[in-house]
Amino acid sequence: MATESAAKPQKFKAEVSQVLSLVINSLYSNKDIFLRELVSNAADALDKRRFESIAKPKLTPEGHEPRIRLIPDREAGTLTIWDNGIGMGKGALAKDLGTVARSGTKEFAKKLEEATQQAEQGELSLIGQFGVGFYSGYLVADSIDVVSRGAGSADAHRWSSDGQESFTIEATEREEPGTSVVLHLKDEQKKYLEEYELRNLVRTYSDFIDYPIELLVDRKGGDDDGDDDGDEPQGPHFESINRASALWTRPKSEISDEQYEELYKHLSHDWEPPLCRAHFSVEGTQMFTGLLFVPKRAPFDMLAPQGESEHGVRLYVRRIFIMDNCKELLPRWLRFVRGVIDSDDLPLNVSRELLQDSAIVRVIRKQVIRRVLDALGTVAKDSPEQYAVFWNTFGAVFKEGLHFDADQKDKIAPLLRYESSGSEGLTSLPEYVERMAEGQEKIYYALGPSSEMLLKSPHLEGLKAKDYEVLFMTDGVDQWAVEGLQEFGGKPLVTAMEADVDRGDDGKSEDADKEGGELSELRERCKQVLEEHVSEVRVSSRLTDSPACLVLPKGGLPAHLERMIRSYQQDLPTQKRILELNPSHALIKRMESVRADEPESDKLTEWIEMLYDQALLSEGSPLPDPTRFASRVATLMEQQG
Ligand code: ADP
Repeated sequence: MATESAAKPQKFKAEVSQVLSLVINSLYSNKDIFLRELVSNAADALDKRRFESIAKPKLTPEGHEPRIRLIPDREAGTLTIWDNGIGMGKGALAKDLGTVARSGTKEFAKKLEEATQQAEQGELSLIGQFGVGFYSGYLVADSIDVVSRGAGSADAHRWSSDGQESFTIEATEREEPGTSVVLHLKDEQKKYLEEYELRNLVRTYSDFIDYPIELLVDRKGGDDDGDDDGDEPQGPHFESINRASALWTRPKSEISDEQYEELYKHLSHDWEPPLCRAHFSVEGTQMFTGLLFVPKRAPFDMLAPQGESEHGVRLYVRRIFIMDNCKELLPRWLRFVRGVIDSDDLPLNVSRELLQDSAIVRVIRKQVIRRVLDALGTVAKDSPEQYAVFWNTFGAVFKEGLHFDADQKDKIAPLLRYESSGSEGLTSLPEYVERMAEGQEKIYYALGPSSEMLLKSPHLEGLKAKDYEVLFMTDGVDQWAVEGLQEFGGKPLVTAMEADVDRGDDGKSEDADKEGGELSELRERCKQVLEEHVSEVRVSSRLTDSPACLVLPKGGLPAHLERMIRSYQQDLPTQKRILELNPSHALIKRMESVRADEPESDKLTEWIEMLYDQALLSEGSPLPDPTRFASRVATLMEQQG
């Protein structure tokens, strides 16, 4: 064990202790996963060595055979996971095993807290999002030693910890570069020394690993099954126990769902199975294979700006791992996709710069988009509930596609989902079109902070009266996403919040707004009083129940977005909206009669200001001076009483 020298214990970073206790307390029922995690780390280390050797051939001497070995030692009660991958130097040991690799962000701490709370409530699925990785060793071990030597270095170190609060690092020796993770198994976990158990776990969880996984077995002549298999080697020796071929290179018919799932978990560090997958080979002028997955839920780092997440799509070139999270292969709006692309045509020494303007990459990207959209289309068709889960998690990201890849909009549009005034739950555009009322020629939508708010919004009154359904767009991206869409199935999309929506449809004359038209003096008066806030005052054709509402000039920014933008861009010029009055509303009639009696009355001025305030309230906007509004209401009530 690691205590013979006086190595000074170093404390784990705070979140490590948290993760450790989460691991121990929450995953106890699924201890088996430790092997998958450690084998997965070993495979990554082999990938890295192979990749770095392309530029620095010295890192891999002649005859180097990349391998992962499982070495059970019954006497010592240890299971060692050995690899001859990239290895770790002293600094990396302290850093990579002393902190949670993908942490360092506030986001992590926040999500961790959420996960802990959920774990307490018995919902454990979130935990997997952290890819507890190395720490899962403590599910089965009281203490762990990691002996590692970096490729290209002669020095080796031993990291040791009982997984409580601290670890030690001291110098040691290792014959060749690579890493050995030595698990000192807990007494009740000694089954992980058994050949049968280990074979089973590798077959279940790690069969797809591209490197040989070898198990140290020790057969004492024929004691196993009675027959004396003459050609079985005797004594301790290594036997390869996986197939060691990259899963994506195998024919689909030979791959089980479980195997796909395990590869997905290896790539994504997700805990749950994926929502769907696309496995395809493209042949022709360019050859490549893709195996892509859409997760069910967002891993905690998923919505981080691209490039900050470690995951995404891995690039391989002729089976050789080149890089993680190769963002050139994916458009931004599919940044939740995980998986592998293996190209036959890219050079091994491909760099990020080269990827950026590579024709090969463009072809791959196009296929990636197509295959992912097809796979999502199948989910949407076959299991709408599952698709709704996807949509609630990733819809806001997905919609960016309308803007960034407008040429794909015909494929994206049928996959969009919105809440609406005419359906329970989510609806699609084709469903909307099918429900369209007679005579309705456009698709209506409303932008706002929430469906509840929109449902009550005065802007929709006219459309509701005609039985026209309205789609609710409540995501920040909707405003510009929908601009990318413009129409669906030949039907234009128009916003219910804008001034000109459907005016004139019901035979009302546009002249009403002109000077001398309906309510022209009252409108003029309103305009004077509200000069600062509104650009125009019109007679409304949309209102049925409300006295007034504020609508956008063409192309204007909805109030909730204006507020959002203003919160970080102080100098946004004020956007004046258009006040629409409902001439058949009793209040407006009353105001008109007050005006007719006494055009300059102060009471009218006050009423106009209140009318404006209540138009703001009814659309969910905050009032500029709520106290004044409240005191005016109180005064009015007193007068009534
Ligand atoms: P993750 O694999 O999610 O990054 P882990 O906690 O499993 O998190 O591992 C932390 C880091 O430690 C890895 O990112 C890697 O840099 C390093 N590491 C773990 N195992 C090995 C190994 N066998 N060889 C080389 N480096 C390793």
